[in-house]
Amino acid sequence: MGNRKTVIITGASRGIGKATAELFSAKGWNVLINYSASDKEAFAILRNLQLKGSEVDLYKADVSNRRKVKQMVDYCLNKYGTIDVLINNAGVSKQSLFSEITVDEWNEILAVNLTGVFNCCQSVLPIMLKNKYGKIINVSSIWGMVGASCEVHYSAAKAGVIGLTKALAKELGPSNIQVNCVAPGIIETDMLSKLSFKELSDLKEATPLMKLGKPEDVANCILFLASEEANFITGQVVSPNGGFVI
Ligand code: NAP
Repeated sequence: MGNRKTVIITGASRGIGKATAELFSAKGWNVLINYSASDKEAFAILRNLQLKGSEVDLYKADVSNRRKVKQMVDYCLNKYGTIDVLINNAGVSKQSLFSEITVDEWNEILAVNLTGVFNCCQSVLPIMLKNKYGKIINVSSIWGMVGASCEVHYSAAKAGVIGLTKALAKELGPSNIQVNCVAPGIIETDMLSKLSFKELSDLKEATPLMKLGKPEDVANCILFLASEEANFITGQVVSPNGGFVI
């Protein structure tokens, strides 16, 4: 463990979170992989990274459950002694006409995508304030910047993440804690699984770089924001989106 830095990555059993966990592990970080349901995938990542000699561990917790989030943070502190970086990546999306969004669906999308960020940020705050050091990186979406038709709840939650990032950056700046946001464009993960071939090709066409993003494209941005090279950046939204939103 020694001088390694420690990161908690939420929603790291699949997609962008998984790629981010792999990248941080490859760079020598202690990585706590959070997830909520995909046991098989999470244990496969754990085994794979441990075989490579990485210091990683798993913690199953729904980020919308404050008590479990607090237990996860305590577990991380007991295991690694500190938390340098929190990456709030866990997210869920659903396509529905606005008129058909049920209250339960609205609450679930907000609970995971926005309240989850609130829960995790508040829970890591005491150690970051004590250290007078910390970086929080929140994963929003281009849809939080420009809005997506048939994803009003998701867009609202992701716009909320951007607002939370900016406000918290102002509040925590004097304590040397940076809070930034990554707002990916269309990235090839399970989240796109409900889109048709035609919808995916239309999205590709609408992207100036003429391709969809890979989870690694987002992981690289996150790693930069977590690095010492990004020490003067706070309250910002970095959008790896291939030019889809300019
Ligand atoms: P994904 O492949 O569906 O992965 C989502 C991850 O979040 C999984 O590891 C999942 O773990 C975890 N998760 C879901 N609900 C959770 C909860 N309540 N508590 C803890 N973990 C939870 O999605 P992705 O594309 O990688 O998305 C990652 C982030 O990027 C999300 O915030 C998403 O909104 C954002 N994003 C994605 C795209 C895109 O095009 N893919 C674009 C913009 C932004 P379990 O399966 O174990 O629950």
